Amino acid sequence: MAQHAIDVSDYRQLGETIGGGIVLPDDADYDEARAVWNAMIDKRPAVIVRAGSVADVAPALAFARDHDLLIAIRGGGHNVAGHGTVDGGLVLDLAACNDVHVDPDTRIVTAGPGATLADLDAATAPHGLAVPVGVISATGIAGLALGGGFGWLTRAHGLTADNLVAAEVVTVDGRTVRASATENPDLLWALKGGGGNFGVVTSFSFSAHPLPTSVLCGNLVYSAANWTRALRAYARWTEDVPDEMTSIVTSLTPPPDWELGAEPVVVVGFAWSGSEHQAGQDCLDRLLAAAPPDVPDVARLPWPQWQSSLDAVFPRGVRAYWRNTGLNRLDGDAIDVITRFASQQTWLGTAFDIHHMGGAFGRVDEHSSSFPSRNARYWINIYGFWNDSADDAHHVDFIRSLDTAMRPFSSGAQYLNFMGAEADNPLVPGAPANQPSVYGEAQLARLRDVKLAYDPANLLRLNHNIPPTLAGA
Ligand SMILES: Cc1cc2nc3c(=O)[nH]c(=O)nc-3n(C[C@H](O)[C@H](O)[C@H](O)COP(=O)(O)OP(=O)(O)OC[C@H]3O[C@@H](n4cnc5c(N)ncnc54)[C@H](O)[C@@H]3O)c2cc1C
Repeated sequence: MAQHAIDVSDYRQLGETIGGGIVLPDDADYDEARAVWNAMIDKRPAVIVRAGSVADVAPALAFARDHDLLIAIRGGGHNVAGHGTVDGGLVLDLAACNDVHVDPDTRIVTAGPGATLADLDAATAPHGLAVPVGVISATGIAGLALGGGFGWLTRAHGLTADNLVAAEVVTVDGRTVRASATENPDLLWALKGGGGNFGVVTSFSFSAHPLPTSVLCGNLVYSAANWTRALRAYARWTEDVPDEMTSIVTSLTPPPDWELGAEPVVVVGFAWSGSEHQAGQDCLDRLLAAAPPDVPDVARLPWPQWQSSLDAVFPRGVRAYWRNTGLNRLDGDAIDVITRFASQQTWLGTAFDIHHMGGAFGRVDEHSSSFPSRNARYWINIYGFWNDSADDAHHVDFIRSLDTAMRPFSSGAQYLNFMGAEADNPLVPGAPANQPSVYGEAQLARLRDVKLAYDPANLLRLNHNIPPTLAGA
């Protein structure tokens, strides 16, 4: 690797080759350009490359390689660990590459690496189709799909990654390679859960699924007096709901504009992906009868409207620290812990979600993608979204305490897209990145082999990193 001090003329030369331009520390828009979703991540890149098209990717990678700059790849910038930015390195910002193309005949949706979930939903909804994605529409499809992708269609159609059928990738040495079932299948396998370790993905192709024009969905709101009954009924209900029903239990103090008061609530959010609304309503009625909510907010909404309904709770620039784990059970002991911690929520502050897993997600063969841990019945994600750095220690302590209290019910699995920058976080000194607990030893060994094939020098290491296997190791 050629290494020499970088001066302004080097950057000017780079800027001339990049269609979307570059941003340097002295530029007026530098602070805006360097910011990511999580305000706890405050880094100062040497240069931000704004790719105007995917043709800008290879020159940006070559510049970083030649000048020994650490590379941060950024799609939607939502990564909680802050992997979309870097101190003193090169940020490759792909936000402008957000085209989405839908082929209604093959039901294949092709998305650029800067597309957000809103871009996908807006493109697929007019065709009565949807790709399973996450629940906040400003999230980037790139990071979401490469890590997994939990959302309202998980039980019906699996993770976002499960629906990735092909990708185009620019490797660190500037080659463009295609990954599909027939071309470089090991790379496709690795991209389905292995994160941004293997190259810069410049195009994602997903299978889409039919979805009704209006989707039966909503939120059942429970006040504290009803939490135990509601959660016990919910646990029983989830034992045999059809795959079309995906639900997420959220504990939070409602934002003022929800007009639900200032006390914490537990909310059962749900979406029914089937075309028969009545079948969905019948399924929901069983829960409503077993645990009548204080506020039964049940609606039939266009998909993009439902998919963006929680956006305001998660504005860019809040402070965030997340912990998660798969859960084997949601029994009386787990519910006791949950209700104890639910009563401690504040606005602005913390919240937690319990995703009901299983269904199509659970039936995917563990070896068909690098996302492991298909046997978790539920998944808890504990997070925060506060504004004041003076509150960091208090909220982080809450999140870590609940995480610890839920360990007896844990399947041991962790989802990397819900993981924070433990080792980078001054509040958690020296915490490990924990890959074996994410992938398991067998998946990790295979991921290392793919890493060795595509990025043997580990130039792409600003991620939940998979160090390459050394030859003969
Ligand atoms: C408010 C909020 C809501 C969320 N909701 C959900 C949810 O419902 N379901 C869920 O599963 N997750 C959810 N997440 C987590 C989310 O999946 C991750 O944060 C994910 O990393 C975001 O992707 P991004 O492109 O926006 O992030 P970025 O920060 O832009 O990228 C994250 C990382 O992905 C890799 N990457 C990005 N683009 C590329 C590329 N083109 N090629 C190679 N590697 C690349 C890089 O390693 C990069 O550092 C949410 C996060 C937030 C902050």
